[in-house]
Parts: sequence; structure tokens; C-alpha cells
Amino acid sequence: MIEVIDLNKSFGSQTVLKQINLKVYNQEVVVIIGPSGSGKSTFLRCLNLLEQPQGGTILIEGQSLMDPNIKISNIRAEVGLVFQQFNLFPHMKVIDNITIAPIQVRKWPVEKARSKAVELLAKVGLSEKADVYPDSLSGGQAQRVAIARALAMEPKIMLFDEPTSALDPEMVGEVLAVMKDLAKEGMTMVIVTHEMDFAREVGDRVLFMEQGIIVEEGTPEEIFERPIHERTKSFLSSRN
Ligand code: ATP
Ligand code: MG
Repeated sequence: MIEVIDLNKSFGSQTVLKQINLKVYNQEVVVIIGPSGSGKSTFLRCLNLLEQPQGGTILIEGQSLMDPNIKISNIRAEVGLVFQQFNLFPHMKVIDNITIAPIQVRKWPVEKARSKAVELLAKVGLSEKADVYPDSLSGGQAQRVAIARALAMEPKIMLFDEPTSALDPEMVGEVLAVMKDLAKEGMTMVIVTHEMDFAREVGDRVLFMEQGIIVEEGTPEEIFERPIHERTKSFLSSRN
């Protein structure tokens, strides 16, 4: 479970996240929508300490990320993050991209890491790509490798920041399908996306964020069919 209490984040004099409170329960899929610059990416980045908040508390499975003794690499292992840009290591084969963190961070033996990677490549439908280099992959394939790489750490939570928005339209479906499978398996997920149909189908809860505030939250049906706040309404109608 993720618990966020009164989270504040500023860059210089600009306050980007204002007193955010949120609980994400185990096996829940929470989708965050909202206009550009509203703080969605910053929020996700705080959840695995790519950004340091100025105030508030984040608890992951009861453990505070603000604890000065915390090992950041452990948190990153527990909380996987998949970005819009896949950031695969270009000089490493696909399989080595997937095994490097379990070997270096989790201290797994090479054989164990490789057999897990083979399993994950099958899961994302890319068994035949183990020994190629990332530059020979399509965008959709690269993003599926990036998901496999995050899963290789056996995270408890997966964060996705617009994982399909850099992809050609014909590749969006294959990435969303992998995410849908994960949701079905009960992975706890927080997903920032502009794919409203996907949000509706897979989200247990949808948050509308604007100017660093969670303006409204509810089930997909509540948010998409009968939003309460004017801002949510106008955001959603601008997307149709
Ligand atoms: P988008 O939909 O365009 O991805 P977003 O909701 O993810 O937007 P953020 O990237 O979280 O928005 O940015 C929120 C605000 O914080 C923006 O005004 C942005 O310019 C600012 N910001 C984000 N990262 C930094 C940074 N490293 N330094 C300074 N300002 C930043
Ligand atoms: Mg963003």
C-alpha cells in the first residue's frame, strides 16, 4: 500500500504539489489524468524518490520514504517506474538490460536473473528478442522490454508515466495489453495516461489533477460519466 500524507513539492518558488493526500491499496489500479504541467510526473517521481519532496510523508508498505536511513536503491526496487521514453541501455542486449538490476541491486546469481528475464520476455511477447540490441526494436517492443526490466526487480508497485504517448498509434495497443495483464494479475499500479478508454477499462479509481491538487477522484464511471467539478468537466470535454 502507498500512503501519501500532505505531500508538498516545489521547484524554486513554484509549488508544484500542494498538500496531496492519497492512499493506493494493494492490487488497486489508480489512473491520474490532468492537463500538462499539473504535477502528474512530479508526483510519480516523488513516489520512488526521483524527486525529494519538501514536506509531507510517503509510506510504502508502512515504510517512510522520508526516513533518512532509507536505502533509495531498495525503494526503487520495490517501486518500478516506466517512463514515456524507455531509456534502455543501447550498448546492452535486451536480456542484459533486464538482468542488470537484479544482479547488481538484488544480488541475484546470473542464472536466476536470466531465467527470470526469459520468463518476463515471454510474458511481454518478446521471447525472440532476448539477444538483440535495443536499436533494432520498434517503439512498442522497446516499451515492453522496459516493462519487463522494471518487473525483473519483482516490485510491489508499478508506476507508469504516459507509457504510450511516445509511440506510433499502431503500437499503443500492445503496450496497454501488457499493462492490462498486469492489472489482472493484481499488480498495484499508478498510471498517468491520456488513454481515456484504457483508464475507464482498467482503472479502479481515477484522479483528476490540476495545478498540483487532486481536484476530484472517483470510479471511472463517476469521473467520466458524471464529474462534479467544472474543471474536470472542461478538461474531459476538451479531450473529446
Ligand atoms: P505533462 O502532462 O506535460 O507531462 P505533468 O502534469 O507531468 O505535465 P510535471 O512534469 O509534473 O507536469 O510538471 C509540473 C510543473 O513542475 C511544471 O510547471 C514544470 O515546469 C515544473 N517542473 C517539473 N520538473 C521540474 C524541474 N526539474 N525543475 C523545475 N521545474 C520543474
Ligand atoms: Mg508528465
